[in-house]
Amino acid sequence: MSSPTTIENVVIVGTGCAGLTAAVYTARAGLAPLVLEGTQPGGQLTTTSEVENFPGFEHGIDGYTLTDSIRKQAARFGARYESGLVQSVDFSGALKVLRTGDREIHARAVIIATGAAPRLLGLPNEMGFFGGKGVTTCATCDGAFYRGMEVIVVGGGDSACEEALFLTRFASKVTLVHRRDALRASKIMQQRMLDHPKIKPAWDSAVAEIVGDAQGNVAGVKLRNLKTGAVTDLPCKGIFVAIGHQPNTQAFTGAVRTDEAGYIVPETGSQVRTNVAGVFVAGDCADHVFRQAITAAGMGCQAAIEAERWLAEHGN
Ligand code: NAP
Repeated sequence: MSSPTTIENVVIVGTGCAGLTAAVYTARAGLAPLVLEGTQPGGQLTTTSEVENFPGFEHGIDGYTLTDSIRKQAARFGARYESGLVQSVDFSGALKVLRTGDREIHARAVIIATGAAPRLLGLPNEMGFFGGKGVTTCATCDGAFYRGMEVIVVGGGDSACEEALFLTRFASKVTLVHRRDALRASKIMQQRMLDHPKIKPAWDSAVAEIVGDAQGNVAGVKLRNLKTGAVTDLPCKGIFVAIGHQPNTQAFTGAVRTDEAGYIVPETGSQVRTNVAGVFVAGDCADHVFRQAITAAGMGCQAAIEAERWLAEHGN
């Protein structure tokens, strides 16, 4: 644990691909970074079964193994890990201040790599069905609980298609509920999903209501056809929500520039420099376009190199 008087060279907030890659680079540069782990060590990749598109792994690699390996790689060069959810910051002085629940950390430079969290449908009783009662945002984590059951996946992007395909390993039937009649997902994912005999799309449809059973578990949904307005009952035990993400930037609101959706906006001409000198950003908390493990890692590398140069230029 760092005492309040310790001044860190660089604090990296987040341990997804972006934060961990920044840790490898800053640690190798001799900066002994302090890496703060939040509620999901390893980030979103740890909820992905197989990563097939990270260069260097011909046959793919599972997300947990990949991030754990980058974590250990950074530790070998002197990165230090502490758990701590940053709740507020003060970036107004030369030393940056980060506050977690129980302590205050002072740093010369900061790399924000807090990622993004899955969005929810916003239905009144949705949260009541979370935590093993039928509503989830992670097929990899929860799919096996739905062996032999009917489930739905909401969304029309790559995540929704990926989740639907993964769920065919367990579920007896998967209905993909999408609000339009055209998917946003890449062509290859669309084709794989549409060709699968266990998956049935429900086009132009939205979940109007979640219906529970006497034990408080999901029993089905009421689906509204958005073109005709017709409402139909669809029995299902699991609802997998895959409708995109929200950046985890609440603790930094007002301290660095963000856009209306909360994504941190880098300075013109840089992908990773924020509007505050000495504060850098990497990964999904600043990237709503690519959101790939490899692009997050690339941004983590850039942020680390920029932080290292910034510290050298400012007499550290
Ligand atoms: P996304 O591409 O933003 O897709 C979100 C989907 O959810 C869209 O189809 C959207 O509908 C729908 N949606 C959004 N809000 C909704 C709401 N309130 N109610 C119902 N539906 C709603 O998100 P994603 O699928 O998570 O993908 C994010 C990024 O990661 C993408 O760049 C994707 O290519 C990438 N990704 C890649 C892989 C891979 O390569 N293996 C896997 C997963 C994700 P509309 O289409 O109508 O907007």
